Amino acid sequence: MLHTHEGISRRRLLAGLGLAAGAALTEASVLPRSQLPGWDARTGVLVVGAGAAGVCAAIEAARAGAEVLIVESMPRPGGSSAMSAGVVYAGGGTALQRALGVQDGVEDMYRFLASAGPHAPLDKIQVYCEESAAHFDWLRAQGIPYRERLSRARGAPATDESLYYSGNELAWPAREVARPAPRGHLPGLAGTAGGRRMMEILLARAGALGVRLRTGVAARQLVVESDGRVAGLIVDAAGQRQAIGAARAVVLACGGFVYDRQMLRRHAPALYECSAAWAGAGDLGDGIKLAVAAGAATVHMEHGCAEAPLAGLDSVLAGILVNAAGQRFIAEDSSPLMVGDAIVRHQGGRAWLIADQRSAPATRQDRFLAAARGNTLGDVAVQLDLPRGALQHSIAYYNRHAANGEDPLWRKSPALVRPLQGPPYTAWNLSVADSFFPVYTLGGLQTTVGGAVLNGFGEVIGGLYAVGRTAAGLPVAPCIAQGLSLGDCTFFGRRAGAAAARGEGLA
Ligand SMILES: Cc1cc2nc3c(=O)[nH]c(=O)nc-3n(C[C@H](O)[C@H](O)[C@H](O)COP(=O)(O)OP(=O)(O)OC[C@H]3O[C@@H](n4cnc5c(N)ncnc54)[C@H](O)[C@@H]3O)c2cc1C
Repeated sequence: MLHTHEGISRRRLLAGLGLAAGAALTEASVLPRSQLPGWDARTGVLVVGAGAAGVCAAIEAARAGAEVLIVESMPRPGGSSAMSAGVVYAGGGTALQRALGVQDGVEDMYRFLASAGPHAPLDKIQVYCEESAAHFDWLRAQGIPYRERLSRARGAPATDESLYYSGNELAWPAREVARPAPRGHLPGLAGTAGGRRMMEILLARAGALGVRLRTGVAARQLVVESDGRVAGLIVDAAGQRQAIGAARAVVLACGGFVYDRQMLRRHAPALYECSAAWAGAGDLGDGIKLAVAAGAATVHMEHGCAEAPLAGLDSVLAGILVNAAGQRFIAEDSSPLMVGDAIVRHQGGRAWLIADQRSAPATRQDRFLAAARGNTLGDVAVQLDLPRGALQHSIAYYNRHAANGEDPLWRKSPALVRPLQGPPYTAWNLSVADSFFPVYTLGGLQTTVGGAVLNGFGEVIGGLYAVGRTAAGLPVAPCIAQGLSLGDCTFFGRRAGAAAARGEGLA
């Protein structure tokens, strides 16, 4: 794809790297169209951000006949999407599931996703499940290579399998809510470059459709008509202020806000404590700030997707997870995203994995450290400052039932249930600030299922769409499956792009 890089300010780069003293702040206002002498450039649909959501929106807008321009603040396109593993959560009988003999249905997928709890966006989940198989066909038709190979491993395959259990489907209580099925679809490549490959393909596809891309150009302010309709953007192009008009719509696809530390602390204090940010450097909340200045409503701003550092460490799951009260709080074989959510949101960010000699990590790992070691559980409990007797009580109860292969409290898979015995005991520190605990934000702009941005009264803001992590979409806390974010970005990005091209958002 042809594109021009127009430089990047030092302040922006530093902010992106988390090194700037303050956050990169956009102008917290809109510019009335009447105050603008004229446009420096014009397009039909103006997409802000060249990640998965923005590029999918651009592709569908161009296919619907619109002239499309993407502006991207970083020197290179791709955003967090290009750093990702490229896992898309899809199901209901995708071509890949069928080819591999996997039984899945729309209803099972819906029931599983709806089990995320009270915040689950049922309207978006329904349309996503109904059209998931067709969406997978679309991804494949763009050229993303999927291999007809199923992985039985827990966690994203490091080899070239394209389907695996990326969510919590096999853990309790999820396995009783809906028939489990593997729904994590990823490019069939060895290693973790699935997201990069996916973005190369989507960007090339957009270029072939005539979408223009300008990198090093950051959106700074929305331009609005007197009736509130969004008419374009003020951008910063290598230090130069330019006005770009959008005859049909502006689509905000700027990612989330994990790197704006002030914004994170204010809106998602529990996520602020996590030790690592799981996103590209452009994740500064710009899209959210731009739209809020135009009256947009936000939702789920405190939600995030945090991963406990347990992926791929099956041997340790025979140990038990305890909180600061010395009590178990989740089935240890839940997906690392579910465990992460439980620690971040429900345990004050503190947890330990109690292991005996047999349940120590089988391989060397540097994601968490030992917080305590001892020949008795009492020694360990004292070092962790747990309430007197609590840990011993939890383990006595666990062991009594584990001797029969049972876990009546959390119903961990019987294959991982056995009594903890045999010192030394180790307490591995899984607290969010002390272990490798990456997080990205899920909260954002409130949108319709078509991606139109809503104001605080629930009305559509004309000419404005938001997609991907700039919007509050499919994934909410708890994030019950890996792949929901890219599934949401690609699927709802496409819908918003098509609607924007049709001028549906013009109030
Ligand atoms: C290592 C890693 C692995 C992951 N693996 C997976 C996975 O396998 N599956 C999954 O579902 N999720 C995964 N995630 C999360 C997922 O990658 C992101 O949630 C998703 O890519 C967000 O896509 P997006 O299009 O909303 O934002 P992005 O891909 O981040 O794109 C937003 C773009 O907007 C640009 N931008 C920001 N502000 C401005 C501005 N003012 N003007 C112009 N441009 C701007 C940014 O620079 C960026 O390029 C992973 C994340 C990481 C970091």
